[in-house]
Amino acid sequence: MIKPHQRQSQSDRITIGVLTDWLGDEHPSLLLKGIISEARANDVNILCFVGQQPNHPERYASNANFIYDLPSAKSVDGLIVMSNRLSRFDPESVEQLCEKHQSLPIVSLGQRVEGVSSINVANEAGTCDAVSHLILRHGLHRIAYAMGPEKQLEAGERFQGYRRALKENGIAFDPSLVAPGGFDLELAEETIRVLLDERRVEFDAIVAANDLLAIGIIEQLNERGLYVPEDVAVIGFDDLDVAAACTPPLATVAQPIIDQGVEGVRALIAKIRGEPVPDLVVLPTHLVTRRSCGCLSPWVSGVKRRDPIEDGTNLIDLAKAWPETILAQVRSLVQSSHVRLPDDWPANLLTAFVYSSQEDAPQRFLLVLTYLLDEVARQRGKVGEWQGVISAVQQIILPSLNSPASRERADQLLHQARVLIGESVYQAQVGLEILDRRRMSLLRQVIFNLASTADFGEQLQILIDGLPGLGIRCGYLTLFEDHDPNAEWSNLVMAYTPERTFIADGDGIRFPTRQVIPEQYGQVGDGIMYTVQPIYYRNEYIGLLVLELNYDSLTAYELIRAVTSAAIKSGSFYQELQSYSQNLESVIRKATADLIQSKEQAENILNNSPDAILLLDKSGLIDVVNSTCSEVFGYSADELRGKHPSMLVSGELGSDVIKSVEQFAGNKGPIRFEVIAKPEKGVLFDAEVALAPVADGGIYRGAVCTIRDISALKDLERMKDALLSTAAHELRTPLTTIRGFSEILRTRDLTEERRDRYMGFIYEQSTHLGGLVDNLLDVARIQAGRGLEISFEMVDLEPILRSVVAAYREINSGHAFELVNLDHLPPVIGDPLRLDQVVRNLVSNAVKYSPGGGVVTITAAARDGRLEVSIRDEGIGMTPEQQSHLFERFYRADQSDSAIGGAGLGLTICKQIVEGHGGEIWVESEPGKGSTFTFSIPTVQHE
Ligand code: ADP
Repeated sequence: MIKPHQRQSQSDRITIGVLTDWLGDEHPSLLLKGIISEARANDVNILCFVGQQPNHPERYASNANFIYDLPSAKSVDGLIVMSNRLSRFDPESVEQLCEKHQSLPIVSLGQRVEGVSSINVANEAGTCDAVSHLILRHGLHRIAYAMGPEKQLEAGERFQGYRRALKENGIAFDPSLVAPGGFDLELAEETIRVLLDERRVEFDAIVAANDLLAIGIIEQLNERGLYVPEDVAVIGFDDLDVAAACTPPLATVAQPIIDQGVEGVRALIAKIRGEPVPDLVVLPTHLVTRRSCGCLSPWVSGVKRRDPIEDGTNLIDLAKAWPETILAQVRSLVQSSHVRLPDDWPANLLTAFVYSSQEDAPQRFLLVLTYLLDEVARQRGKVGEWQGVISAVQQIILPSLNSPASRERADQLLHQARVLIGESVYQAQVGLEILDRRRMSLLRQVIFNLASTADFGEQLQILIDGLPGLGIRCGYLTLFEDHDPNAEWSNLVMAYTPERTFIADGDGIRFPTRQVIPEQYGQVGDGIMYTVQPIYYRNEYIGLLVLELNYDSLTAYELIRAVTSAAIKSGSFYQELQSYSQNLESVIRKATADLIQSKEQAENILNNSPDAILLLDKSGLIDVVNSTCSEVFGYSADELRGKHPSMLVSGELGSDVIKSVEQFAGNKGPIRFEVIAKPEKGVLFDAEVALAPVADGGIYRGAVCTIRDISALKDLERMKDALLSTAAHELRTPLTTIRGFSEILRTRDLTEERRDRYMGFIYEQSTHLGGLVDNLLDVARIQAGRGLEISFEMVDLEPILRSVVAAYREINSGHAFELVNLDHLPPVIGDPLRLDQVVRNLVSNAVKYSPGGGVVTITAAARDGRLEVSIRDEGIGMTPEQQSHLFERFYRADQSDSAIGGAGLGLTICKQIVEGHGGEIWVESEPGKGSTFTFSIPTVQHE
């Protein structure tokens, strides 16, 4: 179906889009050769969109194929789809592509697609010829077939040709002779393995689906000691250059690959112009016999059927107007259809040969031939083909040369011509090689430079500097917005042409993605041809690399694309990395500051803690300690590091700690226990150890060990225990007395005097009991932090002192009481009852703790605004150590059973009362000599 097409592109010239895969292979490059030459001839632009074969097995390869969605009426007037390339892994993908672009005129190369004009090759007929040749010419009947890619349509057609040839020649089809293969050299190993090892079939020839597979098959056969064509004849398909160059030269079906490209462009131009175009054109193939099928070179054998000129014809006359049949014969020998030579070259060549052989003017023929060979070499045609032309000239002209001199000159000319051709072939090869080597070293330089910088600007400059050396004079790099190939907008970041270069400072020039190159920068209108390649990295779409299409550098494009992709990606990686590391730096800086702060906080907390805190490592050894720990235990942090915490604990308890720490790792729960702590110097003390695990993500890392000094608490506990026993004892003594005497009073008839005495005991003991209970209540109040109730008034201490002493004198304890300096004492501000309590307590102690009797002296003296009252005894006295604990609650210097009774409360209460009056209380004592308790109370100050 032919659709008239409304052109939308801005340029007056037609722009053809070509959808193809990698350009570096010989097959697509030959197709492109035809496309380029025909586009040039018609002044047509080319945008060659280079992707990958759809469903390519290589990972990420298919990601290149967004490039096939890109062409639109904004950039091209029509499309040539290299279907035979793209259908390799997925024939349906080509139909989908054509469907997607159905608004554009499309020509498909190598595969029929509904609604699209197709230029195909006679694959079936070609293979049929090859197989028939083996049967008929070489008498071979066991002919194996090496298949092409399973799904590829052309490969399928070729296989049909094999079957048709067998059928036409009456040979039964044997499926065991059909082996798997493919279009690649390496796949031949499997072909031969299946035929020789797996199936062990016998065969005398193999026809392969293409040349590369055939060449691989020859190699594989050689490796197994089988020779081509002596043991096995081989024929390929394609007639690539390598077919003629390999050993033995490969017989093959020559397909007009270049012509297919040429025809494709012709058909597309016609379609774009709205001219009628057939749906299907099938281009003929022809068999090229070479050594591998058992034939000799066609230059030697293939031209012998040329018609010589009739005897007696005057060659000079003939040269004036060569018969068309002869000219056509000569012309047909040059197969490189893209090579453009002057139309009359066969006539010129023949005429020059006639004159040179007849007139001894060798230059004329050799000059014409040299001109033609140079032209062919310049246009990258096959110079070798001209051996066939020379053979034809020989066969046409030689029989008509009558004079022996002419024949000799002709022989000489033919010889010189063959030398010239040989030389040209050599020159063309060496020239190409040198060119290639130069290009390769330039390419290497570009790649090396690209790889060695991560700076995007520098990368672009490297492309601009390096690519013109590869014959790529113009180039553009565009980046998709948001890494989205479907984004409406892209940014041009690099452009270079021979006239100007541009590297974007910032984001670049924004333009519609579908234009491929922004109009103001595009050179498409000037008839330059471009490749359009995807820049992508794995799943990330970056942009497009648009480069001038230079046929001689085709192999370089994919490499430049890949390296540019990687370089840009690694550059942006680098930039990302840089900004990432900058971010990271500030995050780390902040975290470090936070850390330092919280570390300081933690250190403050740790070091100001009244408890020793140790961090233990996994094996229970000390890692870090706080300053309290060092102060309490007298070891520096360094001395403790790496040691076992049991060193801080006394005696056997040390091993308990070891056990606790060891069990701790398994136990995980926090544990507490009490130990006797052992500082380096000084007194042992009671301590509570708390071990708490430190876990990080469930992994046990160590423990925090807190050692708290609980000696005060322990003492308190001990004293409470003591109190309980003494209080019980103290309370029981008066109670027993009271109960005993009241029992006697109740049950016995007593004399008045006895009754009074007993009543006096009961009174005395109940008073004592009352005082004891008062003391206990006072202490309880002090302990509860409520303090003692003190009501202030002006108090004269003298009568209090005298009455207390008087009371003791009455008890008749066996002590002498002396009152010294009690006259004219200044009054104090205080609570008379409380002060009485203090004096009574101190006098009571003086009596109690001088069991051997002696003098109790009470002295008062006013000094510095205070009244000092001392109570001195001549009793048992106290050591300084005992004195230091004297005023502590429940402290009793002698706790033995034989000790003098008491609850250890009196002095505590005295101290509280004195201090509650703003005064002080202290003791001076010597064991065995007696003690002096003194308290001072502020006096009333007279103005
Ligand atoms: P207690 O009821 O045990 O006497 P105190 O608080 O009055 O309680 O005294 C505390 C301890 O101080 C006594 O147990 C005793 O060991 C010691 N003490 C008090 N006064 C004297 C003193 N005059 N001479 C010797 N030791 C004394």
